[in-house]
Amino acid sequence: MMPVSKRFISPMSNSPLLVANNLCTYYGHSQALFDVSLSIPAVGGVAILGRNGAGKTTLLKTIAGELLAQRGSLSFDGESIDTAAIEQRASRGLGYVPQDHGIFARLTVRENLQVGALRESNSDQAIEEMVALFPRLGQRMSQAAGTLSGGERKMLAISRALLGRPSLLLLDEPTEGVWHGVIEEITERLRELAQDIAVVIVEQNVKMALSISQHCYVMDRGHIALSGESAAIRDDPELERLLSP
Ligand code: ATP
Repeated sequence: MMPVSKRFISPMSNSPLLVANNLCTYYGHSQALFDVSLSIPAVGGVAILGRNGAGKTTLLKTIAGELLAQRGSLSFDGESIDTAAIEQRASRGLGYVPQDHGIFARLTVRENLQVGALRESNSDQAIEEMVALFPRLGQRMSQAAGTLSGGERKMLAISRALLGRPSLLLLDEPTEGVWHGVIEEITERLRELAQDIAVVIVEQNVKMALSISQHCYVMDRGHIALSGESAAIRDDPELERLLSP
């Protein structure tokens, strides 16, 4: 597979790429995140798990900048991004694939990719890179994105985020509503990406998320309830308890 080129990130030895300290996020008066702290290494997969309503999407939105934390701090590549808007975070290298894909349904696949490739000096070549990553998209270039299958939409959304050359890719349920035959394809691509950049994945598909990640955070009612190496957490009885309804 053609490697997805990434932007230059200052090599600060083993410093984490993203550090969140005591994030507190609210919807109106209702608090959804309680003192959430985490650390994301520059390369590798990190899984964020938890039952419905645990706060996973809220955490990704807070990191991406769609929501602003009322308290706590976020640093990315050694600099504070607390006051940076979502576009500024994206241009610094934070890629975000929201749960609802965030693609333009009426635009074709090619047009969606062109939007993602706006900052590329050679956008055709960049789009070809994405087609090499997800060959199915190559067969659908003239099709309206709204008519794609669930799996193809996820592939398009991931490709569009990758065209921003992120050093950290945040994915909210990349296999939700995806046929099982395609899940393996997406999983494999994400596993490959996680050898080159930081990939943070929120998933209900626990087995898949743990297979991609080296590190895992498990959320419960807006808190980080458990964290550690994915290989160890996989067999931790506490994981089962935290995920059971
Ligand atoms: P799921 O796995 O079901 O997607 P989640 O772990 O991603 O759940 P969040 O979507 O982050 O959980 O929700 C965390 C809490 O915040 C829930 O109690 C939810 O009801 C609440 N919440 C989420 N979005 C809003 C909103 N726009 N307004 C008010 N409360 C919200």
